[in-house]
Amino acid sequence: MTSLRRVTTALLAKSGLARLARAVLVRRGRFVLTLHGVARRRYAEIPVEAQPSFCRDELSQLLTWLGGRFRFLRPEEFFAGEGPGVLLTFDDGFASHAEVALPLLREHGAPAVFFVTTRHVEDPRDWLPATRRTAAAEPGTEIAHDLYDGMSRAQLREAAADPLVTVGSHTLHHPFLTRLDDAELVRELSSSKGYLEEATGATVDLFAYPTGDYDRRVAEAVRAAGYRAAFAEDPRGVGLPSYEIPRVGLYSAESPYLSVKLSGLHRRPVCHGFSRKARRASSEM
Ligand SMILES: [Zn+2]
Repeated sequence: MTSLRRVTTALLAKSGLARLARAVLVRRGRFVLTLHGVARRRYAEIPVEAQPSFCRDELSQLLTWLGGRFRFLRPEEFFAGEGPGVLLTFDDGFASHAEVALPLLREHGAPAVFFVTTRHVEDPRDWLPATRRTAAAEPGTEIAHDLYDGMSRAQLREAAADPLVTVGSHTLHHPFLTRLDDAELVRELSSSKGYLEEATGATVDLFAYPTGDYDRRVAEAVRAAGYRAAFAEDPRGVGLPSYEIPRVGLYSAESPYLSVKLSGLHRRPVCHGFSRKARRASSEM
């Protein structure tokens, strides 16, 4: 965070304005929250920028903070328009989602969607090589495993079997989807879906765009590949609301940051449902 944003955040949080805004703006709305890896702990020997934004204690702090203010929603509740609440999503398929996040989700009774990049499951070391270099954490070390490795197939299966977890696709290779030709795009969308369905034995019909990169062609391809919904970061307004659901990325568990980020000032909450019936009702309003 820049220092100006830090000061603004602190002021908004301290003045109680963020809490007031949440009460007024969020009301029946919902937020979809994006998280990435969750390390077991902070590593003093590794540059901060090469570590995930959250470690175990910080995720625990976040879940406690959220639990005191929001209902944790299951995907079905989110799509039906129930709220106010939050839907948690974890991107990229890190081993830490199974090893560190899942036990905490169980403790807090918080459902989540794990958006898995399947290459990360097939080759746990082939991930974030530049960040690895910054950290100088060699593949195979305990630190590299904690910070970068993907979950194994067994972990993926075990996570999917937990009633709290829904597995969604985050492609095969985490590409910028708008840069792919049609054939590559279909492969990223369909093969990852097939892989995850085969590995988990469950239907996989939720999708998250890697780095939030999509356009109308990509969103239509996601729909054609059999997904019922897709999650973006900032919606680009391509006319397919179920395929550009906004998410709020969280990068700190500090209370002033959360208070402002989820006040409704930073990003308006989602206030309508996504089932056919709910969509009709909201368009008639
Ligand atoms: Zn990602």
